[in-house]
Amino acid sequence: MSEATPNRPRLSAGPGRLLVISGPSGVGKDTVLHDLFRLDPSLRYSVSYTTRSPRPGEIDGVSYSFVDDQTFAAMVEQGDFLEYAEVHGHQYGTSLQRVREALSRAEDVVLKIDVQGSKRVRRRVAGEALFVFLLPPSKEELRRRLIERESETPETLELRLRNALVELAEAEKYDHIIVNAQVDTAARRILEILEASRHPEEVTP
Ligand code: 5GP
Repeated sequence: MSEATPNRPRLSAGPGRLLVISGPSGVGKDTVLHDLFRLDPSLRYSVSYTTRSPRPGEIDGVSYSFVDDQTFAAMVEQGDFLEYAEVHGHQYGTSLQRVREALSRAEDVVLKIDVQGSKRVRRRVAGEALFVFLLPPSKEELRRRLIERESETPETLELRLRNALVELAEAEKYDHIIVNAQVDTAARRILEILEASRHPEEVTP
Protein backbone atom coordinates (compact mmCIF):
# COMPACT_ATOMS: atom_id res chain seq x y z
CA MET A 1 0.00 0.00 0.00
CA SER A 2 1.29 3.47 -0.82
CA GLU A 3 2.31 5.84 1.93
CA ALA A 4 0.32 8.88 2.97
CA THR A 5 1.81 12.17 1.86
CA PRO A 6 4.38 13.16 4.48
CA ASN A 7 3.82 16.28 6.62
CA ARG A 8 0.15 16.46 5.79
CA PRO A 9 -1.99 16.68 8.92
CA ARG A 10 -4.26 13.77 9.69
CA LEU A 11 -7.83 14.19 8.51
CA SER A 12 -9.07 13.65 12.00
CA ALA A 13 -7.55 13.06 15.38
CA GLY A 14 -10.67 11.21 16.48
CA PRO A 15 -11.77 7.60 16.23
CA GLY A 16 -13.96 8.04 13.12
CA ARG A 17 -13.02 5.80 10.18
CA LEU A 18 -13.14 6.60 6.50
CA LEU A 19 -14.68 3.84 4.39
CA VAL A 20 -13.99 4.12 0.67
CA ILE A 21 -16.26 2.12 -1.61
CA SER A 22 -15.55 1.76 -5.31
CA GLY A 23 -16.79 -0.46 -8.08
CA PRO A 24 -17.84 -0.14 -11.69
CA SER A 25 -20.93 1.72 -12.75
CA GLY A 26 -23.89 -0.67 -12.54
CA VAL A 27 -22.41 -2.90 -9.82
CA GLY A 28 -25.09 -1.70 -7.42
CA LYS A 29 -23.13 0.61 -5.13
CA ASP A 30 -26.16 2.80 -4.38
CA THR A 31 -28.37 -0.18 -3.48
CA VAL A 32 -25.71 -1.72 -1.26
CA LEU A 33 -25.06 1.61 0.44
CA HIS A 34 -28.77 2.12 1.00
CA ASP A 35 -28.84 -1.21 2.80
CA LEU A 36 -25.67 -0.40 4.69
CA PHE A 37 -27.16 2.82 6.10
CA ARG A 38 -30.34 0.97 6.99
CA LEU A 39 -28.31 -1.59 8.94
CA ASP A 40 -26.14 1.04 10.62
CA PRO A 41 -27.77 4.48 10.70
CA SER A 42 -24.78 5.89 12.60
CA LEU A 43 -22.72 5.84 9.41
CA ARG A 44 -22.41 9.14 7.55
CA TYR A 45 -22.48 9.43 3.78
CA SER A 46 -20.21 12.06 2.31
CA VAL A 47 -22.30 13.81 -0.35
CA SER A 48 -20.02 14.55 -3.31
CA TYR A 49 -20.03 17.50 -5.65
CA THR A 50 -20.58 16.83 -9.34
CA THR A 51 -20.96 18.73 -12.60
CA ARG A 52 -23.28 16.10 -14.10
CA SER A 53 -27.01 16.81 -14.32
CA PRO A 54 -29.36 15.27 -11.76
CA ARG A 55 -31.14 12.07 -12.81
CA PRO A 56 -34.89 11.87 -12.20
CA GLY A 57 -35.48 11.50 -8.48
CA GLU A 58 -32.05 12.75 -7.42
CA ILE A 59 -32.12 15.54 -4.84
CA ASP A 60 -29.55 18.32 -4.70
CA GLY A 61 -27.57 18.08 -1.47
CA VAL A 62 -28.69 14.49 -0.84
CA SER A 63 -27.62 12.44 -3.87
CA TYR A 64 -24.96 14.96 -4.85
CA SER A 65 -24.40 18.68 -4.66
CA PHE A 66 -24.91 19.62 -8.29
CA VAL A 67 -22.70 22.49 -9.41
CA ASP A 68 -21.62 24.00 -12.72
CA ASP A 69 -18.12 23.67 -14.22
CA GLN A 70 -17.09 27.11 -13.05
CA THR A 71 -18.07 26.51 -9.44
CA PHE A 72 -16.33 23.13 -9.45
CA ALA A 73 -13.13 24.67 -10.88
CA ALA A 74 -13.21 27.39 -8.20
CA MET A 75 -13.56 24.72 -5.50
CA VAL A 76 -10.57 22.85 -6.93
CA GLU A 77 -8.61 26.09 -6.90
CA GLN A 78 -9.52 26.72 -3.25
CA GLY A 79 -8.43 23.23 -2.22
CA ASP A 80 -11.96 22.29 -1.16
CA PHE A 81 -11.65 18.64 -2.23
CA LEU A 82 -10.12 15.67 -0.46
CA GLU A 83 -9.99 14.20 -3.97
CA TYR A 84 -11.65 14.86 -7.29
CA ALA A 85 -11.67 13.17 -10.67
CA GLU A 86 -13.27 13.21 -14.08
CA VAL A 87 -15.55 10.19 -14.39
CA HIS A 88 -17.58 9.34 -17.51
CA GLY A 89 -16.98 12.88 -18.80
CA HIS A 90 -18.07 14.77 -15.66
CA GLN A 91 -16.29 16.11 -12.60
CA TYR A 92 -16.86 14.54 -9.19
CA GLY A 93 -15.26 15.58 -5.91
CA THR A 94 -15.27 14.73 -2.21
CA SER A 95 -15.67 17.72 0.09
CA LEU A 96 -12.80 17.95 2.55
CA GLN A 97 -14.94 20.01 4.91
CA ARG A 98 -17.84 17.52 4.98
CA VAL A 99 -15.48 14.63 5.68
CA ARG A 100 -13.55 16.52 8.35
CA GLU A 101 -16.69 17.64 10.15
CA ALA A 102 -18.13 14.13 10.30
CA LEU A 103 -14.84 12.59 11.43
CA SER A 104 -14.43 15.23 14.11
CA ARG A 105 -17.84 14.16 15.46
CA ALA A 106 -16.30 10.66 15.70
CA GLU A 107 -18.58 9.42 12.93
CA ASP A 108 -17.54 6.81 10.38
CA VAL A 109 -17.72 8.35 6.93
CA VAL A 110 -18.54 6.48 3.72
CA LEU A 111 -17.23 7.67 0.35
CA LYS A 112 -18.62 6.24 -2.87
CA ILE A 113 -15.93 7.20 -5.35
CA ASP A 114 -14.25 5.88 -8.49
CA VAL A 115 -10.87 4.15 -8.62
CA GLN A 116 -8.92 7.32 -9.48
CA GLY A 117 -10.40 9.13 -6.48
CA SER A 118 -9.72 6.12 -4.31
CA LYS A 119 -6.05 6.16 -5.32
CA ARG A 120 -5.84 9.82 -4.37
CA VAL A 121 -7.41 9.21 -0.98
CA ARG A 122 -5.00 6.32 -0.41
CA ARG A 123 -2.05 8.55 -1.23
CA ARG A 124 -3.31 11.26 1.03
CA VAL A 125 -4.54 9.39 4.09
CA ALA A 126 -3.39 5.80 3.62
CA GLY A 127 -3.65 4.58 7.21
CA GLU A 128 -6.88 6.42 7.96
CA ALA A 129 -9.14 4.71 5.45
CA LEU A 130 -10.50 1.28 4.58
CA PHE A 131 -10.83 0.47 0.89
CA VAL A 132 -13.58 -1.81 -0.35
CA PHE A 133 -14.21 -2.78 -3.97
CA LEU A 134 -17.59 -4.10 -5.09
CA LEU A 135 -17.50 -6.64 -7.91
CA PRO A 136 -20.42 -7.74 -10.06
CA PRO A 137 -21.12 -11.49 -10.17
CA SER A 138 -20.13 -11.35 -13.88
CA LYS A 139 -19.53 -8.89 -16.68
CA GLU A 140 -22.77 -9.99 -18.34
CA GLU A 141 -24.69 -9.23 -15.17
CA LEU A 142 -23.05 -5.81 -14.97
CA ARG A 143 -24.18 -5.02 -18.52
CA ARG A 144 -27.68 -6.23 -17.71
CA ARG A 145 -27.89 -4.02 -14.61
CA LEU A 146 -26.68 -0.96 -16.53
CA ILE A 147 -29.23 -1.50 -19.28
CA GLU A 148 -31.99 -2.09 -16.73
CA ARG A 149 -31.24 1.26 -15.12
CA GLU A 150 -32.47 2.99 -18.28
CA SER A 151 -30.73 6.24 -17.37
CA GLU A 152 -28.12 5.84 -20.08
CA THR A 153 -28.11 6.66 -23.77
CA PRO A 154 -26.38 4.08 -26.02
CA GLU A 155 -23.26 6.30 -25.98
CA THR A 156 -23.06 6.75 -22.21
CA LEU A 157 -23.84 3.06 -21.73
CA GLU A 158 -20.86 2.15 -23.91
CA LEU A 159 -18.66 4.64 -22.07
CA ARG A 160 -19.68 3.25 -18.70
CA LEU A 161 -19.10 -0.32 -19.86
CA ARG A 162 -15.67 0.53 -21.23
CA ASN A 163 -14.75 2.34 -18.01
CA ALA A 164 -16.06 -0.65 -16.03
CA LEU A 165 -13.38 -2.88 -17.55
CA VAL A 166 -10.68 -0.41 -16.51
CA GLU A 167 -12.12 -0.19 -13.00
CA LEU A 168 -12.34 -3.98 -12.61
CA ALA A 169 -8.59 -4.24 -13.21
CA GLU A 170 -8.03 -2.09 -10.10
CA ALA A 171 -9.94 -4.35 -7.72
CA GLU A 172 -6.91 -6.21 -6.43
CA LYS A 173 -5.41 -3.01 -5.01
CA TYR A 174 -8.21 -2.70 -2.46
CA ASP A 175 -8.13 -4.00 1.12
CA HIS A 176 -11.32 -6.00 0.55
CA ILE A 177 -13.20 -7.25 -2.49
CA ILE A 178 -16.88 -8.08 -2.16
CA VAL A 179 -18.99 -9.70 -4.86
CA ASN A 180 -22.38 -8.05 -4.96
CA ALA A 181 -24.48 -11.10 -5.74
CA GLN A 182 -26.93 -10.43 -2.90
CA VAL A 183 -27.38 -6.86 -1.70
CA ASP A 184 -27.95 -7.52 2.01
CA THR A 185 -25.07 -10.03 2.14
CA ALA A 186 -22.73 -7.46 0.58
CA ALA A 187 -23.89 -4.74 2.99
CA ARG A 188 -23.46 -7.04 6.00
CA ARG A 189 -19.97 -7.98 4.85
CA ILE A 190 -19.02 -4.28 4.68
CA LEU A 191 -20.28 -3.81 8.22
CA GLU A 192 -18.24 -6.80 9.41
CA ILE A 193 -15.13 -5.31 7.83
CA LEU A 194 -15.79 -1.96 9.48
CA GLU A 195 -16.44 -3.62 12.81
CA ALA A 196 -13.24 -5.67 12.55
CA SER A 197 -11.27 -2.49 11.82
CA ARG A 198 -12.61 -0.95 15.03
CA HIS A 199 -11.27 -3.89 17.03
CA PRO A 200 -8.14 -4.98 15.17
CA GLU A 201 -6.83 -6.90 18.17
CA GLU A 202 -9.72 -9.36 17.84
CA VAL A 203 -9.04 -10.24 14.21
CA THR A 204 -7.54 -13.66 13.84
CA PRO A 205 -5.00 -14.10 11.07
P1 5GP B 1 -22.93 8.32 -11.07
O1 5GP B 1 -22.87 9.38 -12.13
O2 5GP B 1 -23.41 7.00 -11.63
O3 5GP B 1 -23.66 8.75 -9.84
O4 5GP B 1 -21.42 8.07 -10.59
C1 5GP B 1 -20.46 7.77 -11.53
C2 5GP B 1 -19.16 7.40 -10.84
O5 5GP B 1 -18.64 8.53 -10.14
C3 5GP B 1 -19.28 6.28 -9.82
O6 5GP B 1 -18.25 5.33 -10.05
C4 5GP B 1 -19.05 6.97 -8.51
O7 5GP B 1 -18.44 6.12 -7.58
C5 5GP B 1 -18.13 8.09 -8.92
N1 5GP B 1 -18.14 9.19 -7.94
C6 5GP B 1 -19.21 9.70 -7.28
N2 5GP B 1 -18.82 10.68 -6.47
C7 5GP B 1 -17.47 10.79 -6.60
C8 5GP B 1 -16.48 11.62 -5.99
O8 5GP B 1 -16.72 12.47 -5.16
N3 5GP B 1 -15.19 11.41 -6.39
C9 5GP B 1 -14.84 10.49 -7.33
N4 5GP B 1 -13.55 10.36 -7.64
N5 5GP B 1 -15.76 9.68 -7.90
C10 5GP B 1 -17.05 9.83 -7.55
